[in-house]
Amino acid sequence: NIPSIVALQNARTLIKNNEKIIVDGNQGIVIVNPSKDILEDYEVRQNIWGIEQQKLSKIKNIQCKTINNEKIELLANIEVPGDIESVKNNKAAGIGLFRTEFLFMNRKDLPNEDEQFEIYKSVARSMKEKTVVIRTLDSGADKLTSADTTISANPALGLRAIRLCLSEPQLFNIQLRAILRASRFGKIKILIPMLSSLTELRQTKLLIERAKKSLMNEKILFNKNIMVGGMIEVPAVAINAEIFAQELDFLSIGTNDLVQYTLAIDRTDDRVSHLYNSLHPAILKLINITIKAGRKYKKEVSICGEMAGDTKLTRLLLGMGLRYFSMHPSRILSVKKQVLNSNTQKLVSSSAKILKAKESENIRTLIQKLNQ
Ligand code: PEP
Ligand code: MG
Repeated sequence: NIPSIVALQNARTLIKNNEKIIVDGNQGIVIVNPSKDILEDYEVRQNIWGIEQQKLSKIKNIQCKTINNEKIELLANIEVPGDIESVKNNKAAGIGLFRTEFLFMNRKDLPNEDEQFEIYKSVARSMKEKTVVIRTLDSGADKLTSADTTISANPALGLRAIRLCLSEPQLFNIQLRAILRASRFGKIKILIPMLSSLTELRQTKLLIERAKKSLMNEKILFNKNIMVGGMIEVPAVAINAEIFAQELDFLSIGTNDLVQYTLAIDRTDDRVSHLYNSLHPAILKLINITIKAGRKYKKEVSICGEMAGDTKLTRLLLGMGLRYFSMHPSRILSVKKQVLNSNTQKLVSSSAKILKAKESENIRTLIQKLNQ
C-alpha cells in the first residue's frame, strides 16, 4: 500500500529536492508542485481511499463465495517470508505463488539446502493447514540472481527458469531436496516455472523422483505425494494445455509472462509498455483454453499473474470458469468484494461473448458492461 510509480523517465532531473509532489500510484502520475486546488482534491481522494479500506476490512472474515454459493479461493503471492504477515492480515486462502528467486538475489553465493529448508519450513508452518505453492527458481531475465552466471542477448528467451535448473541439476537438486524436506511441515506444492515442452516437464519429474529417492535412502521424512504443478506462461504450452493437464497435478497461469511471450513485448522495456495488453483477444483465448483443459482433466487452474488482482477482470475470469486466483496480498479484499457480488452462472454467456470479440477496445467496453 505504499504508492509508487516505476519507469518515469528523467524524474530525477525534472524534480528538484524539497519540491512537494503527489504520487498517484493508481493512475501512474506524479504531480510536481501541485496547486492548492489539486492538493485539496487529492486530500479528498486520500480520505475516500481510507474509508474504502475500512469498508473492505469488514469483509475479511466472510467466506469467499459468490451469490450462487460457489466457493472461490483467493490466494497470495509472496516473495520473502516477511510477506506472510500481510497474507494473514488479508485472510488469504493460502499461498498460491512463493517466488523463491528472492532468496537468491542480492548475494554472491547460493543459499544452501539447510538455509532454504528452514525458510520453506517456516512459511509452511506459519500457514498451518493452508496451501503453500513453492515455485522452483525462476531465475534470469527480469529476475537476475546469484544463479545466473551469464546473460544472453535475449535474456527472456534464454537460459532461465526451469531451463537453467535443468542445465544445473546440482543447484536444482538442492532446492528440490529443501522443498521436499519442508513438505511434511505443511501443505506444500511444487510449481515449475516457464515450461515450454513436455520433455522439460518429464525431466523435471525425474529429478524430483531422484531427490525423493536420495531422501529416502537417508531416512529423511517428506510428503511422498507432493503435488507438482506447472506454470502456463509460454503460448506453446497454453495452446497444448490439455496435454500438460494430463501430466500435471495443477496448472497456474502466469499472465505476466504469457502476455510478454504472446505479444512479443519485453515486459522490462518501458518503451513498448503501451503495447503490453492483457486484454488482447489472443491472451483471453489462451487463458480460456487453459481453464477448459483443467476442467476436462479435473485439475485446479489458477492465475497468479497481475491479472488475478485486477478487479475489473474478476467477473470475466469467473465467467470463464476460473476458481483460484493468486495475487499480491494487498489486492485480496478488493477482489473478494467483486466475488461476493457476482453470480458465476450469470457471467458465463457474457464471458463467452467477450471471448468472441475481435479487438481489445470492444473487450474493454464489454467488460465495463459486465461490471456495471
Ligand atoms: C507471471 O509470469 O505471470 C508470474 C506470476 O511470474 P513472474 O511475474 O514472477 O514472472
Ligand atoms: Mg513468470
